[in-house]
Amino acid sequence: MDFELNPEELAFQSAVRKFGDAVLRPNEKRIDTEGEIPREVLAGMAELGLLAMPVPEQYGGIGASAVLTEIAAEEVGRGDFSMATAVFFLLEAGWGSILARHGTEEAKREILPPVCRGKAFLGIGTTEPSGGSDLARLRTEARRDGKEFRIRGEKAFISGVEEAKALGGGHLTLVKDGGGDGFHFLYVPTRSPGITTRRFENMGRMGISTGGIVYDDVRVPERYLVGKEGHGFGCAMEGFSVARTFVAAACVGAAERALEVGAEWIKQREVFGQPLAKFEAIQFEYVDLFTQVEAVKWQCRRAAWLLDRAAAGATPAQRSEVDRTVAAVKLAAPQVAFDTVRRVMMWFGAAGYTKEVGLELGFRGIMSYLVGAEGGLNIMRIILGRELLGKEYVPYK
Ligand SMILES: Cc1cc2nc3c(=O)[nH]c(=O)nc-3n(C[C@H](O)[C@H](O)[C@H](O)COP(=O)(O)OP(=O)(O)OC[C@H]3O[C@@H](n4cnc5c(N)ncnc54)[C@H](O)[C@@H]3O)c2cc1C
Repeated sequence: MDFELNPEELAFQSAVRKFGDAVLRPNEKRIDTEGEIPREVLAGMAELGLLAMPVPEQYGGIGASAVLTEIAAEEVGRGDFSMATAVFFLLEAGWGSILARHGTEEAKREILPPVCRGKAFLGIGTTEPSGGSDLARLRTEARRDGKEFRIRGEKAFISGVEEAKALGGGHLTLVKDGGGDGFHFLYVPTRSPGITTRRFENMGRMGISTGGIVYDDVRVPERYLVGKEGHGFGCAMEGFSVARTFVAAACVGAAERALEVGAEWIKQREVFGQPLAKFEAIQFEYVDLFTQVEAVKWQCRRAAWLLDRAAAGATPAQRSEVDRTVAAVKLAAPQVAFDTVRRVMMWFGAAGYTKEVGLELGFRGIMSYLVGAEGGLNIMRIILGRELLGKEYVPYK
C-alpha cells in the first residue's frame, strides 16, 4: 500500500493549488456576488486540463484517473470557498466521464471537446418537482419516434441551467421510457426547441445557477442516448458514484482551508492575556477537527482508488465496496466540512459572522451537500444499510 503521490500527481496538485491561490481565491467573492464563474476563470481551468479531466484525450480531456481528479477536486474546493467552482468542476468531471464511457461515438466527438475547453456546460438532470431521492418514481417521459426521442415533463433544482444556455451544452437526463417500463439516459441540449428554464434563488454557491427545466415535446436524436435504450438507470447511478466522490473531495479541500484560516487566527488572537490557541478548549477542538478532516480525506482518496479499480472491470463484491465507500464518504465529508467551518467561525467571534472574514461563503456552499445536492444524507444511509445489512432491509419498496 503506497500513500505517496507519484511525481506527476504531485506536480499536478501543486499546479492546481497555485491556480487556486492565484485565480480562484481572488475571484471567489466576485463569483458569489455576480452569480457566475468569469469566463477567464473557466479558460484558466481549461488550460490546466481541469475541465472534464477524466475524459480521454481523443475527446479533449486529459484522461485523468479518479485519484488525480479527486486530488484536483480538493484543490478547487480549497480555492473557491463558495463551492461554485467545485460544483462546475465535479459536474464536468463526473458526467463527462460517464458520457465518455457510455455515449455514442458521434455524441462524444460532438459534445465533449467544447466541454473540456470550457465552451459548453455538461450537467445532470434527475430531480423533479415531485422529488429527487426516489428516482424510480420520476415522471418525465421520452418516447421513441423513429430516430428521435420526444420528451415531456419537468426537472427541478438542476445545476447549470443558465450556464448551459449561455455557453451551450446540456444535461444527461434520466427519463422514463414512454413506450416501456425502463429508463432512458439522454443528453438534452438546453437550447433545444421546447425547453424553458428558470433560475431558483439559492442561499449559497451563487456562482453556478440551479433551476427548473420544462420539456414540452423536446426532440433529441438517438445518438444522444447514453448507455442502452431502456437501461439508463444504471448509468445514472454509476455517474453518481463518481460525482459524489468529487463532492466529498471538494468538501475536504474546503475544510482544510477553514482549518488553516482557523489555526492562523487562534495563534494570533489574544484573549485573557494569551493566544486563543493556548486554551485547551480551543486547541483540542482544533485537533479534533483536524483528525476528522484527515480521516475523511483518506476515505475519499480510497473511494477514488476503488473507482479506478472498478473502471477496469469490477466483480459484484468490488462494486458493492465502491457503493458503500462512496456513500460513506458523501455522508461524512460534507458534515465534517460544515462542522469545521461552523466551529472555526466561532473562534472568530463576531468577525466570523461577517462577509469580510469570508467563512460564511463556505458555510452557505457546503450546506447544499447536506440538504441534497448529489443525493441527501439519508439516501447515503439507505445505500450503506443496503450494502451492509442486505437488500431485504431497504426501508422502502
Ligand atoms: C444546490 C443544489 C443543486 C442541485 N443540483 C442538482 C442537479 O444538478 N441535478 C439534479 O438532478 N438534482 C440536483 N439537485 C437536487 C438533489 O439531487 C436533490 O435535492 C436530492 O436528490 C433530494 O431530493 P429532494 O430535494 O427532492 O428531497 P426529497 O427526495 O423530497 O427528500 C426530502 C428529505 O427526505 C430525505 N429522505 C428521502 N427519502 C428518505 C427515506 N426513505 N428515509 C429517510 N429520509 C429520506 C432526503 O434525504 C431529504 O433530506 C440539487 C440540489 C441542490 C440543493
